[in-house]
Amino acid sequence: TRVLGIEGTAWAASAALFDSGDDRCFIESDPYQPESGGIHPREAAEHMRGAIPRVVETALEHARETHEGDGGVDAVAFSRGPGLGPCLRIVGTAARALAQRLDVPLVGVNHMVAHLEIGRHRSGFEDPICLNASGANAHVLAYRNGRYRVVGETMDTGVGNAIDKFTRHLDWTHPGGPKVEQAAKDGEYVDLPYVVKGMDFSFSGIMSAAKQAVDDGVPVEDVCFSLQENIFGMLTEVAERALSLTGSEELVLGGGVGQNGRLREMLGAMCEARGAEFYAPEPRFLRDNAGMIAVLGATMYEAGDTVAVEDSRVLPDFRPDKVAVSWRAANPP
Ligand code: ATP
Repeated sequence: TRVLGIEGTAWAASAALFDSGDDRCFIESDPYQPESGGIHPREAAEHMRGAIPRVVETALEHARETHEGDGGVDAVAFSRGPGLGPCLRIVGTAARALAQRLDVPLVGVNHMVAHLEIGRHRSGFEDPICLNASGANAHVLAYRNGRYRVVGETMDTGVGNAIDKFTRHLDWTHPGGPKVEQAAKDGEYVDLPYVVKGMDFSFSGIMSAAKQAVDDGVPVEDVCFSLQENIFGMLTEVAERALSLTGSEELVLGGGVGQNGRLREMLGAMCEARGAEFYAPEPRFLRDNAGMIAVLGATMYEAGDTVAVEDSRVLPDFRPDKVAVSWRAANPP
């Protein structure tokens, strides 16, 4: 199966060609870089309008170069949500037009489920718990009876957005995550809030306290170090509890914050200590990318899970537990 995937929920205008025959995935991305501050929805949408046609054309050229005739695309998959409405609508329009032009079915993919499924696909794990640590989201997912259940999640902001808000306070350019990771290397621990309630976690208190600490003169590297220790500790604690509650012995990581070495180290150590397996996809599949959309798109297409153009409106608040997991329901673990 050859699927052309399109992603554009927030900052990454991206198109990919995935061929399930040889498991190769070609990805072309064009990121939106805000000149100042964080992601502005209108600017992000303007970026999508220019960049989506370009990345799609590049993916199509790749399809034609690797397959005689018209490229052999069997379906067009696109991220239906969750994400910024203005961005999603551009992606949806592009996907519908392309599916009609190629005369192939359309597959509507949930972006968060794609973050999970790319880890499952690359690891070969049967029934993992997934920690999604992305910009706008933070949650722990577990599969049960045909759905990915949200077993733990943030009570306020997404994890990447929380870190980015802190770095905006320091006037560091977006995205802040990699800069905090770098600064944390020279830091020592100072006390900051740590909030886990049941299976949920909260980042707003620690963010305010971190900003205040910097304003009070605590060295920035110490604040960055402690921020990482606490935030990633919270995520690791809930991921561990999810493994324990479900009896799963496999954990996959998803989302752009998953590129952080310290988070991967903590999760790896936690899994090792309890005899579980841990898998983190390579960075090009962790941050927003159309590869994961094309890969899940191919699986859904093979399960017959396509969507008619007239039913394919985008879903900005598309929660992962709203997805009927057609491709696993036939084989419950
Ligand atoms: P979502 O998938 O929820 O729609 P998103 O579209 O914002 O989220 P992602 O690509 O999953 O995007 O993640 C982007 C986030 O990842 C940004 O907040 C960025 O600061 C963060 N990030 C990137 N690299 C690192 C890193 N090394 N350490 C920590 N955070 C990082």
